[in-house]
Amino acid sequence: MKSLNLWPNPNGRILPRISTCPTLNLVYSVPPSPSSVRCHSSPTQLPLRCAVLGAGFAGLSVVWHLLKQSPKELQMRIDIYDEVGIGGGASGVSGGLLHPYSPKVKLLWEGAQCWKESMKLLRVAEEASVSKDCRTGESAEDMKAFVAHKRGILRPATDMKNMIKLNDNVKTCLPSCRVETLNDEEAQSLLPGVCLPFNTAFYMPEALNINSQHYLQALFQGCKNLVKESSTLESGHKQLSLHKRSVHRLSDFEGEYDAVIICLGAKVNMLPEISGRLPLRTCRGVIAHLELPDDMIGYPESGPSILSDAWISVQGPRSLKVGSTWEWKSINSLPNVSTDEATKALLELLPKASTIYPGIKDWVFTGARAGLRAMPPLTTLGSLPLLGCINDVIGRNHTCRYWLFGGLGSRGLLYHAWLGNLMAQAVLSCNEEVIPSELTSWKATEPKI
Ligand SMILES: Cc1cc2nc3c(=O)[nH]c(=O)nc-3n(C[C@H](O)[C@H](O)[C@H](O)COP(=O)(O)OP(=O)(O)OC[C@H]3O[C@@H](n4cnc5c(N)ncnc54)[C@H](O)[C@@H]3O)c2cc1C
Repeated sequence: MKSLNLWPNPNGRILPRISTCPTLNLVYSVPPSPSSVRCHSSPTQLPLRCAVLGAGFAGLSVVWHLLKQSPKELQMRIDIYDEVGIGGGASGVSGGLLHPYSPKVKLLWEGAQCWKESMKLLRVAEEASVSKDCRTGESAEDMKAFVAHKRGILRPATDMKNMIKLNDNVKTCLPSCRVETLNDEEAQSLLPGVCLPFNTAFYMPEALNINSQHYLQALFQGCKNLVKESSTLESGHKQLSLHKRSVHRLSDFEGEYDAVIICLGAKVNMLPEISGRLPLRTCRGVIAHLELPDDMIGYPESGPSILSDAWISVQGPRSLKVGSTWEWKSINSLPNVSTDEATKALLELLPKASTIYPGIKDWVFTGARAGLRAMPPLTTLGSLPLLGCINDVIGRNHTCRYWLFGGLGSRGLLYHAWLGNLMAQAVLSCNEEVIPSELTSWKATEPKI
């Protein structure tokens, strides 16, 4: 990776004008301290203005990294725009399963880096969740458990061919996210009643199961904490605002910002400047929520989540999510699920889940949620997200830089932290080359839609 040339960049940066936007819906902003007011109003140090479109995994990761990486003396204003609010898209409904492996337990492209950065961001969220502004009376440990369930994930072998492949892939697993091969007896001791069709399962003890909504709220709190810290230091004033507002076109941001970072998930293609220009497909997924009646014995305390033809994401001893369906080409991003859609999803998911965990028959359906995935093309390295400066993609002359952070597919949790870090580096240095070419090479090929 190239060394960074952070602010000020004599070549890349467009000097900002003072904002005249009359429609700001300010939800959060720390009042400037007297010293930062002086700095803020200095004509030679105008703030760097960034708009982050979307408050899902991608948007909040890039916000946190922008705040963290920007030089202390830099004044910066970050406006987040989301029509629903924090976690309003796929991130908020996601199953929350986090590990760096393919379904065949093969380490994914840059899996080590992605895993390391995800763990760092998770710690940020956990710390923020126990900070006094977020705390709701629970103990620090309870608040951390609120963000992530650390139960591990069990991946049963589902056919003979698959088992040989899985056994092979396990050899290259990460020391920080191990994969252990378990026989039936060992699996039973973790999860009594589990059914292994080939008497073998692959167990990832460090793999996690994140409560997406709690994680995102806590990460946003982490961002607010960084802003607050900056206001108490003798440094450039940082400002962060969340605007609950729909974005209709990129041209609305022209002249108001130095950088616009587009993190709109599967709805990115609805912007007129972008529509039809990205190689993304959409795929709706439904997740069923189940609960266990009080008179039944709960899911074991250390019982793992399960990854199979359907996955089971354990939310607590009496609460599970089962997912997910794959409805390709859907453009329905609504989280609400009709009775018909839920019935269809249950008919598909429950038989798959009960093959591995027959006990699921005792659980009661309590509701369903859905999200729309933004699926990138499959490359020789796997399905990689799409990043980069897209001024050349959207054409015309622009006074600000537009950056895309999208196509997180079904692996948003694994990718968002590292790629948010890279995106922030690229924005602050006005240099796309800090992003690995594997993530920007999509721009060289015509979209096949
Ligand atoms: C059913 C399902 C289960 C999943 N399970 C997992 C899992 O277990 N593990 C995993 O790693 N990944 C999982 N994923 C994938 C993961 O959820 C996505 O990769 C991730 O959420 C993408 O994040 P994002 O920030 O790019 O998009 P999003 O989370 O969709 O965020 C986009 C944001 O932009 C906002 N927005 C959109 N359009 C506009 C507009 N015009 N104006 C203003 N705001 C707008 C939305 O409200 C939203 O908040 C799952 C996905 C689905 C659908």
